[in-house]
Amino acid sequence: MKGIPLLDGKIISSLTLFSYMEKKVESSNNSPLGDGGKRLIVIGGGAAGFFCAVNAARMNPGLQVIIVEKTSKLLSKVKVSGGGRCNVTHACYNIADMIKKYPRGGNFLKKAFHHFFTTDTISWFKERGVDLKAEPDGRMFPVSNTSQTIIDCLMIEVNNYGVEILMNKEVKEINKSTDRWKILFANYATMEADFICIASGGHSKSSQFEWLKKLGHTIESPVPSLFTFNMPANTITSLMGVTVENVAVKIGGTKLSETGPLLITHWGMSGPAILKLSAWGARQLATDNYKFTAIVNWLPLYNEQSLKDKLQQVRFEIAAQKISNRNPFALPQRLWEYLLLQSGVNLDMRWADLPSKEQNKLIKNLCAQEFAVNGKTTFKEEFVTAGGVVLSEIDHSTMESNITPDIFFCGEVMDTDGVTGGFNFQNAWTTGFIAAKAIAAKAANTNIAGN
Ligand SMILES: Cc1cc2nc3c(=O)[nH]c(=O)nc-3n(C[C@H](O)[C@H](O)[C@H](O)COP(=O)(O)OP(=O)(O)OC[C@H]3O[C@@H](n4cnc5c(N)ncnc54)[C@H](O)[C@@H]3O)c2cc1C
Repeated sequence: MKGIPLLDGKIISSLTLFSYMEKKVESSNNSPLGDGGKRLIVIGGGAAGFFCAVNAARMNPGLQVIIVEKTSKLLSKVKVSGGGRCNVTHACYNIADMIKKYPRGGNFLKKAFHHFFTTDTISWFKERGVDLKAEPDGRMFPVSNTSQTIIDCLMIEVNNYGVEILMNKEVKEINKSTDRWKILFANYATMEADFICIASGGHSKSSQFEWLKKLGHTIESPVPSLFTFNMPANTITSLMGVTVENVAVKIGGTKLSETGPLLITHWGMSGPAILKLSAWGARQLATDNYKFTAIVNWLPLYNEQSLKDKLQQVRFEIAAQKISNRNPFALPQRLWEYLLLQSGVNLDMRWADLPSKEQNKLIKNLCAQEFAVNGKTTFKEEFVTAGGVVLSEIDHSTMESNITPDIFFCGEVMDTDGVTGGFNFQNAWTTGFIAAKAIAAKAANTNIAGN
């Protein structure tokens, strides 16, 4: 089993380390504070919370840093992310291009990325012995191809900088007590802190943000993002497993439109084009109760007029050949035959014999086939929630609350979310790092330079 070196030189498994940390931190409430006498409590043991905690502890050794996590698991999403490989970030080195991948929070992150960008993420992990590699579509993974490498790296940092971890500690309320913040846990235990970083991630219900509302923050109501479309009883589902390299999908009656690969599933449609559309349309589609029309252009290089011209040419060039055998657009054969049948074209018909009524139907089906969507499927693809703490209440250069001083936010708890491809973790690293730097500096009453 892969192990993590501890300060005392022992190598233990990550699992053992978790319980080691748990034992170690149960005494945290009474443990003495560092030289600076300040305590940071990070709420949430996910990517953003860990990144904030380890960087703050490293930048300000006098700061006592404690992560409190409501479950018995740490970094659980990192573990399962990217199919167990962890899509750490995206090989995008231009901020203007990067922010186009965030349906919510792009402008906020534009400023934040100037402080810590994808290049900083790559260097940060590299400096700690973790090389990332880019796949042709831009997604970046650890060279090891396992998310455990990222978990191990963060756990080593936890150990190196003495970050303490309390598990099974659900925060229920935060109140001001004299000049410090007081945290109330679900088991009625309390802890005090000089600084709090809230990294509690996204939630599917508004009620789960109640404790943040009580603190004075405004919550943009949560709705799911990154889901697939249900098309109950639609015959297209008979083509389950068929993938089309590049399609354009629009949502009827809106301006929402996306291009990219599409996968036909046994319940409807999935794949990057659909997931992107679900992210950009998250709010609108929730309002419509996930009942809408998806309009698919199977040949996005054509519109109805240019396709008509192309078919004229095809009919002339391969007039004697069977339409079903000669698919001039390199669409998957099963899809091509399905589209012909949907257009009333007999599979034995030759191109020369295609009547104009059927040809017009085929053009319509190729360029603008309509599918009634009724519902969404979360499956494993519902990676993120749109909604959370409104960004106007957070300072983008420090992640500090504009309403409650010394309270900071990072990661998905804020009203930021990206499409798939490593953008959500980049949000966690960027905002976690910025919060860490600001807290470390504030605790030391000074500025801290560099990464
Ligand atoms: C299956 C799956 C795969 C994904 N794959 C990718 C990917 O490959 N690349 C990518 O960029 N993104 C991916 N994502 C999205 C990404 O995982 C999240 O955006 C990211 O984990 C957010 O990090 P976070 O630290 O803000 O929140 P989280 O990772 O959700 O962590 C928040 C933590 O806070 C804890 N918590 C919540 N409330 C409290 C409370 N009151 N008290 C104490 N603790 C609390 C939670 O238990 C949790 O451990 C994936 C998501 C899922 C679900």
